Amino acid sequence: MYIVMTASECAPVSKVGGLADVVYGLSRELEIRGNQVEIILPKYDCMRYDHIWELQIVYQDLWVAWGNGAINCTVWFGMVDGRHCFFIEPHSNDNFFNRGQYYGFHDDAMRFAFFSKAALEFMLQTNRHPDVIHCHDWQTGLIPVLLFEIYQQQGMSHSRICYSIHNFRYQGITGANILAVTKLDRPEYYHHHDRLQDNMHVGALNFMKAGIVYSNFVTTVSPRHAWEALYTDQGYGLSDTLHVHRDKFSGVLNGLDYGVWNPEIDPLIPHHYNIVDLEGKYFNKEALCDKLLLKKQYKPIIAYVGRLDVQKGVHLIRHGLFYALQNNAQFIVLGSSPETKINNDFLHLKHELNENEDCHLEIGFDEELAHLIYAGADMIIMPSMYEPCGLAQMIALRYGTVPIVRSVGGLADTIFDRDYSDKPITARNGYVFNEADYDGLESAMQRAIGLWHNYPEQFRKLIIQGMQYNFSWHRSGQHYLDIYDLIRKK
Ligand code: ADP
Repeated sequence: MYIVMTASECAPVSKVGGLADVVYGLSRELEIRGNQVEIILPKYDCMRYDHIWELQIVYQDLWVAWGNGAINCTVWFGMVDGRHCFFIEPHSNDNFFNRGQYYGFHDDAMRFAFFSKAALEFMLQTNRHPDVIHCHDWQTGLIPVLLFEIYQQQGMSHSRICYSIHNFRYQGITGANILAVTKLDRPEYYHHHDRLQDNMHVGALNFMKAGIVYSNFVTTVSPRHAWEALYTDQGYGLSDTLHVHRDKFSGVLNGLDYGVWNPEIDPLIPHHYNIVDLEGKYFNKEALCDKLLLKKQYKPIIAYVGRLDVQKGVHLIRHGLFYALQNNAQFIVLGSSPETKINNDFLHLKHELNENEDCHLEIGFDEELAHLIYAGADMIIMPSMYEPCGLAQMIALRYGTVPIVRSVGGLADTIFDRDYSDKPITARNGYVFNEADYDGLESAMQRAIGLWHNYPEQFRKLIIQGMQYNFSWHRSGQHYLDIYDLIRKK
């Protein structure tokens, strides 16, 4: 099958969060299974160019109709750790992708509407007729609209669309002027409840809703989150739309790229280890303490690695840190936030705890340190308010680091409480709490820290049970292939 992925991120070249890992990992799995996969991305100035092999121009003068004129684009091609990637570079005063960061601008909707249109124009002009175009998140929600309303008539009649939602909170809600610039026009048709009109702000359009309405199949990234999006407020206003389209909506658990995340061969950690020989893990713990100047003592290290976002339960992360310090444990935070206030709060906390040898806060993005933390820490916490899938808990399992998580979304689908799960005792792999409050978090942390101190052999058993889980892309890759087969125009 010929599949084109279109997204705003792809690891490791342009990564903000889990979306990037999914685009890379799923593409890799699909290729391993003999499919042809190409990835189309914006050419950002802030990408990790050191991860692109033989970047070269493959198409010049791609004119994309935009507003009253057209924007000229150059399309580049390069290999990103074995994946075939195209990068679209527009030349215009809008300077869409040369801004030093990926998101956070007043015209984000414009930027990614343009990218969506340019990706389709590139496919049309180069005679690409993928069986499936797999679009991700709000940034590419207009692709199915543009495909079925414009590009299909121009010759792209073969392609079908699978649309994956990684985060319902960010939907691409924007003004109606987007219709004129993209040349969709006809506001009376598109600005309609059955199509692009936002369900809450009737004067606005919604890219994610567009993706749901127009795609041939819609997924979100775990079965539990699919249920939450339909039946709780976690659909952020899109539940009604999902109900209308529920026959083509399901949850597919993300996989983890076991080629990248593997403590047996990971080049970013100093000591390799595996399920039968855990010794390297303890050396990594020492290396982690050395690197972050933590005092080496007989205490578990609990870590948080991830975005510092309200979604992730920042107040509980902060509380977890103090709880750990008061209860015979050490704590590490690696994370950053696009919100200055949250960043400043954590920088302030870092300053306050500067002299404390039992904790370290690293405010920023650091792939290498993340690997060492997963390898060297004893536990990670994920007290998320909502969590569509979550990769960090799967990475932690793979590295023998026990997850302490709140029972939401993908966390509920992957982590089973050691004491209370209805899974067989040997299939339990972490600690889970329900309520998003201090008591809930403390109850789980207390049990985890207690087991580490008082029953080290039992703790070790829990580590091994976690490492036995397989959340590789193998199963999810097949699931997506089944969906592609279902919607494919044969
Ligand atoms: P989300 O997609 O909501 O950000 P996930 O748990 O699905 O959360 O994926 C986050 C991914 O990004 C993981 O691979 C995690 O290790 C990585 N990550 C997040 N923040 C950082 C950071 N500050 N430094 C290094 N890696 C990070």
